[in-house]
Amino acid sequence: MKCRITVIKGDGIGPEIVAEAQKVLDKIALKFGHVMEYTDILMGGASIDACGVPLTEEAIETAKAADAVLMGSIGGNTSTSPWYKLAPNLRPEAGLLRLRKELNLFANLRPAYLYEELAKACPLKEEISSQGFDMLIMRELTGGLYFGERKTVTENGITKAIDTLTYSEEEIRRIAIKGFDVARKRKKKVTSVDKANVLDSSRLWRKIVEEVAKDYPDVALEHMLVDNCAMQLVKDPAQFDVILTENMFGDILSDEASMVTGSIGMLSSASLNDTKFGLYEPSHGSAPDIAGMDIANPIATILSAAMMLRYSFDLDREADAIEAAVKQVLQENFRTGDIMSEGCTKVGCSQMGTLIADRI
Ligand code: NAD
Repeated sequence: MKCRITVIKGDGIGPEIVAEAQKVLDKIALKFGHVMEYTDILMGGASIDACGVPLTEEAIETAKAADAVLMGSIGGNTSTSPWYKLAPNLRPEAGLLRLRKELNLFANLRPAYLYEELAKACPLKEEISSQGFDMLIMRELTGGLYFGERKTVTENGITKAIDTLTYSEEEIRRIAIKGFDVARKRKKKVTSVDKANVLDSSRLWRKIVEEVAKDYPDVALEHMLVDNCAMQLVKDPAQFDVILTENMFGDILSDEASMVTGSIGMLSSASLNDTKFGLYEPSHGSAPDIAGMDIANPIATILSAAMMLRYSFDLDREADAIEAAVKQVLQENFRTGDIMSEGCTKVGCSQMGTLIADRI
């Protein structure tokens, strides 16, 4: 298969971690007989420096013409970098927001997986962490409270602020379909999270999710109220497979789920539209404090590349091979500095990429 991939190396550690993901993808291509065709575009600070804007129209067109986008991370030190003296619409993040909008990326996927070897970093009680967990938060990304009408008004001397939470059936249906599709590639369980005891938007959410579920008789569906879900994530995370939820609930729950893994350098993410197209990036930022030192952990980006193979190219076997190689390297006790523990061998970013590629 030919995989046409637009690559955004980005800022800070971005170029270092993306190089390692490409090293691993190249090994997959060699081993499984695929062709990885990469086209680089600039975004964020690198694009501001070269073109004066965080994302050019040409870069958007290049990304649209690809099958998927693989990204490092963008941005600099927000206190000291001159990029943050620019107007908000010219700062690095504006490039990413624009790209998400242009590509209509409405589904955000963030897996939270606890590696046995890293269980000590998990802040939960040992009796809970010893059960392990492997879940994926599917968050609606372009609707709900963050995109509804808002205003602040003063009436009779009292100021009040109003935000509106709107979801249409179409918006709910398309994210629910994504959720069930992804669950089919995993443990075949969807937990739909809402606040249907209070919110009309949640009652519609629940109704549409139930309609969609009828097309997926092989996937189990349960509903959970968001406050209970927040508790269950720290009480019994092993119960979850796919958590399907709206924008604001997903924003909060996905951060909670990533914190319980205890290791930010390990967490991948994907943003999808209603085709097979997706943008794949680590959950962490550009870590300007360690840029250029060859000490960043490239695993989140490597696992994002695995997600890209699984969701944009349907190459499940190849994605499994990457995930198994990551596990093996951890079992062999190789660690980058951020996940280092006693008795392990400390390796740099580039060596970690090589170790993983060698095990494919
Ligand atoms: P950050 O995630 O970049 O760093 C937080 C801490 O985690 C730092 O100490 C860093 O060294 C460490 N860290 C992060 N990734 C690591 C890795 N792979 N290996 C080892 N250590 C790692 O968060 P921040 O410092 O708040 O943000 C830095 C910049 O990144 C900002 O400009 C921010 O806006 C940007 N950012 C970009 C994205 C994105 O591109 N999607 C996401 C979040 C933050």
